[in-house]
Amino acid sequence: MSDARNKPLHPRTRGVHHGIRRSQYGELAEALFMTQGFHYDSAEQAEARFIKVGPDEFIYARYGNPTSRMFEDRIADLEGTEDAFATASGMAAVNGALMAMVKPGDHVVAARALFGSCLYVLDILQKFGVEVSFVDGTDLDQWRAAVRPGTRAVFFETMSNPTLEIVDIAGVAEIAHAAGATVVVDNVFTTPVFSRAVEQGADVVIYSSTKHIDGAGRALGGVICGTRDFVRGVAEPYVKHTGGAISPFNAWLMLGGMATMDLRVRAQADTALKLATAMEGRPGFARVIYPGLASHPQHDLAMRQMGSGGTMIAMDLQGGKDAAFDFLNRLQIISISNNLGDAKSIVTHPATTTHQRLSDEDRAKLGIGPGLVRLSVGIEDADDLLDDIDAALKG
Ligand SMILES: *Cc1c(COP(=O)(O)O)cnc(C)c1O
Repeated sequence: MSDARNKPLHPRTRGVHHGIRRSQYGELAEALFMTQGFHYDSAEQAEARFIKVGPDEFIYARYGNPTSRMFEDRIADLEGTEDAFATASGMAAVNGALMAMVKPGDHVVAARALFGSCLYVLDILQKFGVEVSFVDGTDLDQWRAAVRPGTRAVFFETMSNPTLEIVDIAGVAEIAHAAGATVVVDNVFTTPVFSRAVEQGADVVIYSSTKHIDGAGRALGGVICGTRDFVRGVAEPYVKHTGGAISPFNAWLMLGGMATMDLRVRAQADTALKLATAMEGRPGFARVIYPGLASHPQHDLAMRQMGSGGTMIAMDLQGGKDAAFDFLNRLQIISISNNLGDAKSIVTHPATTTHQRLSDEDRAKLGIGPGLVRLSVGIEDADDLLDDIDAALKG
């Protein structure tokens, strides 16, 4: 999006204005078109629309809806992709993008440290005859060894949950593209605010808009961003026919979320850096993991790739599960929950919740010990949060 002088506008401006489709009433806010169907003036018009849908025409909300399209246009513009398709949840986006592009016999390489539901989708792929190889996403040699001519896609979370390892997008993309593979990234932890994924070589960028895009923990949503050929030619047919489209109501919430996203996420990241810096000096934490700290093993890569440490912190409490539980139970402002990217700060004990189903061995491999706690930093005052943390540590 650019202005009348053809000057490119900044993301904060585009996040408020881009993609608006106004009705005949000239409403200022984005309209909520809560309709699944669309009226045709004549049988001929209906016939014509089923032959070819025009750029501002719709048939059925599972295929598209003006409010959903506003959200798609806005996120595609911010992400720097030609197009986007909005989905019912982040998982509908992951499943939609991957299932739409593979067939039996294809080969996919994925990072091992993935959100549990993403691992489940890769299991489904294998069930239908797709070969999946898993690698340590931070080790480019492992990607190099696993990718081969004919590899259809590589898939990874650009920042892993919950141990905040960074995968080098440009490095993996170079390896993948040399073999003709499509680079599909789950960019949730990076957030659209700090994303330069496409510039760095990603072909398809996926978000759970449930997280930072809504930003208030109200609704599920997701989005697949990519080239027009991929989004409309590959992903959309699969998602629209299998029922994965977003509800117009949720898309409307996401549009509101995007208007404030840049302000929120930057403030959250500033607070995260403050908290991580302070916590690193507190006895009680065996380790504080935050990509914005110089102590993070991939600090330089994080800064190069995102320009920020993001909004998530992981802390290892001295004293294991008991200490972690005591800490969680004593917090008063920070909520125990498992959402992230919310305006409210949220703390999670991955070993007993989000990663409970993994074996002890697999958890250990991913660095998820009994004392590990994940903190999603909200938009509250940083000093209040630090007081809450300090009080909870002291008991
Ligand atoms: C939450 C999340 C998802 C799934 O998103 P939903 O909107 O819950 O379906 C996928 N990947 C990552 C990294 C997530 O954090």
